[in-house]
Amino acid sequence: MRHYYPSYFKKFKCIAARCPDSCCKDWDVVVDSETEAFYNTVQSPLGDKLRALTVTDGDGDRVFVSQNGRCPFWNADMLCDIYIELGEDRLCRTCAEFPRITQEYDGFCEHTLSFACPEAARLILAEDNAYSDLLEARYHGDDELLSSLLRARKQTALLLCGSGKPLGLRLGDCLEYNAQIQAVLNGGEPAALDIPEDGDLSAVFELHKRLDYMSADFARLVAEAGDSGLTPLFEGETAKALERLFLYMLFRYYLNAVDSYDVLSTVKRAVCACLVLGVMARNTSDLTALFQRYSKEVEHSYENSEELTFAFAADEAFSSERLITLLDAQARKIV
Ligand code: SF4
Repeated sequence: MRHYYPSYFKKFKCIAARCPDSCCKDWDVVVDSETEAFYNTVQSPLGDKLRALTVTDGDGDRVFVSQNGRCPFWNADMLCDIYIELGEDRLCRTCAEFPRITQEYDGFCEHTLSFACPEAARLILAEDNAYSDLLEARYHGDDELLSSLLRARKQTALLLCGSGKPLGLRLGDCLEYNAQIQAVLNGGEPAALDIPEDGDLSAVFELHKRLDYMSADFARLVAEAGDSGLTPLFEGETAKALERLFLYMLFRYYLNAVDSYDVLSTVKRAVCACLVLGVMARNTSDLTALFQRYSKEVEHSYENSEELTFAFAADEAFSSERLITLLDAQARKIV
């Protein structure tokens, strides 16, 4: 099995108590059965607490009971009691692996980090040419769909990074190319897109305002950005950071089409993330924290992801044509 990594992957080290938005906050920790079996043998007050605070959630998973939005084993020093008393090797799989993500395909395996971790987000945004290893991913099997998705993913990355056009136009090129790819995946022929006169940025924000956020503060920031009437900041350091966010989402999700036959919703999600965060970026100097919070609130929420995917497929406001018009308009404003 060949393994591929973005260049930032092996630089990651958890910053624990120095973490500004720990994974021990806001999320339920799913405990795998092997680890729970070990926890059931621990004879100490911590063992009693582990047994008392592990319950079955609505999805049938065994989870630690969250207390005021915090993992119950995350102590007042912002360190993990399980790690301290039992050692790193005794963390459950969820905690041991996060933010490392492994995606296995026929004959090869891709690894990445999750943007929802602040330290991973810092590394992802700091790195030039982070995906050169993944871009060269070779597939020697006989799955034609996987072969063609790898070629299309590479071409999408080249469209994003291979020209000196403004970011809005490059995102539009990625979208147009993938609308053609999607037409073929749907069994049709690639056809020229009929680009309308107007696109609607407010529709992108209305959709984002409807999402379910864990943090009322983040929901307020999204709403304020949507109501501000500002346009996305597709220039300078923000454009560079958005480009890296787009590439992260491309390499994280594009090959899911092996099962879903859907490349377009991945590209639309990345484009809409760039539009929303491009506006929100006007109100902050900390892009890393902004993008990381978006990842935790939107990318990593199953419900929010479903809502976006449904809207992209069903609502004409998010057709490729309308989004391209919107991106063109943003690009024209800075040419
Ligand atoms: S979010 Fe990342 S850096 Fe923060 S505690 Fe979790 S793994 Fe460590």
